[in-house]
Amino acid sequence: MSLNAESTAFRSALEVIRAVEPRVADAIGAELADQRESLKLIASENYASPATLLAMGNWFSDKYAEGTVGRRFYAGCQNVDTVEALAAEHARELFGASHAYVQPHSGIDANLVAFWAILADRVESPALKKAQVRQVNDLTEADWFALRRELGNQRMLGMSLDAGGHLTHGFRPNISGKMFDQRSYGTDPATGLVDYDKVAEAAREFKPLILVAGYSAYPRKVNFRILREIADSVGATFMVDMAHFAGLVAGKVFTGDFDPVPHAHIVTTTTHKSLRGPRGGMVLCGPELADQVDRGCPMVLGGPLPHVMAAKAVALAEARRPDFADYAQRIVDNAQALAEGLTRRGAKLVTGGTDNHLVLIDVTGYGLTGRQAEQALLDSGIVTNRNSVPQDPNGAWYTSGIRIGTPALTSRGLGVAEMDQTAELIHTVLSQTTSGESKAKYVLDPALADKVSKQANELLAGFPLYPAVDLG
Ligand code: PLP
Repeated sequence: MSLNAESTAFRSALEVIRAVEPRVADAIGAELADQRESLKLIASENYASPATLLAMGNWFSDKYAEGTVGRRFYAGCQNVDTVEALAAEHARELFGASHAYVQPHSGIDANLVAFWAILADRVESPALKKAQVRQVNDLTEADWFALRRELGNQRMLGMSLDAGGHLTHGFRPNISGKMFDQRSYGTDPATGLVDYDKVAEAAREFKPLILVAGYSAYPRKVNFRILREIADSVGATFMVDMAHFAGLVAGKVFTGDFDPVPHAHIVTTTTHKSLRGPRGGMVLCGPELADQVDRGCPMVLGGPLPHVMAAKAVALAEARRPDFADYAQRIVDNAQALAEGLTRRGAKLVTGGTDNHLVLIDVTGYGLTGRQAEQALLDSGIVTNRNSVPQDPNGAWYTSGIRIGTPALTSRGLGVAEMDQTAELIHTVLSQTTSGESKAKYVLDPALADKVSKQANELLAGFPLYPAVDLG
């Protein structure tokens, strides 16, 4: 039997690895088998294309390339320049941005680059000005002291964690929560939606240097035009972290007021969630911030990962194809079908539904904590993650919510009919699970978990993952 190119490529790679450390080759094969079998509803995960995966395993991994295209601290970067420039060009074209910086190793790193660029652009500091024009030797000890004091304690207004914001938007476990003076805006307790009047009020009172929008667990569209107006009214820089919904922006599902790129001063993203690229981050901005953004490495980033930039170029080229828009629309259609299926069966959803790729179930409606629900679903072959809900009574560890997302299952080809079946499986598990003697313990009949697991597998059988990849 003659093998197709993808099977040959992956089989050969595993054979070469197996000759050195067979346990790594086995683990890679096992990971594919596990991913093929699980009903992956983690909203932040996806399945990158074979071309994207293969672009990462090569000699680019051996190259140092600090600096940016044409301005490197290392010699011999001409091929890295090629892939970095290609990835940036695809990103600019895809998102309609004037500048793209494709080096960040992750979403958190992209946010650090953006924070640095905004601080450097906005903070009034004569010492920083001197440092920026590379007169660092002229800086006195007093200058350095002033510079540190002036960069610290700047104000950031971002979406609260329990309303769906991200840790990097000024929260304690992240450095942003330690270096910025942070306040947050939540959502309306009655509707679960962002209340723009309240955001404006908070901005007027707090006068942030940075207004941050973007989320990890908010199931609705955000109006970036209104938020930009609020930022402008108080002189704040408007930053949007579109890590979760970048694929929906790329696929033109979010346009007009809901596309952050024309409205924000700076946009950050991951490349591996709904955008379906390699694990990594990216920053988009206008010309005013471009120079500072390009200083990301070595300012806050380690050496670029040229092999990942090559994979970003491949994935972004894929996202520019017309079929990506269809994919992005199907992500949302699937999320809405899932939300409807759950609601019809009696589940309580935060905001009552979704406009994007994710659904947040308030599992207190089933008498469970998020932790209990997450584990019970996992026992039943359904991979989700627990998440806080607004004003969560169970805190950030146990939580009261389950976040589910459709980018991965949509990549696999599942559609609205399968989403209704998925809703049935989720509801069956949650309604048959009872709370145990602690917020982590629960009771679920193993026979039922087994039955649902089998049903999940049957559902997936019609939609093979990486159908062209046969590892033998
Ligand atoms: N920003 C948002 C909104 C996210 O949801 C996440 C990850 O979940 C990140 C940033 C961090 O991305 P990474 O894990 O790539 O650092």
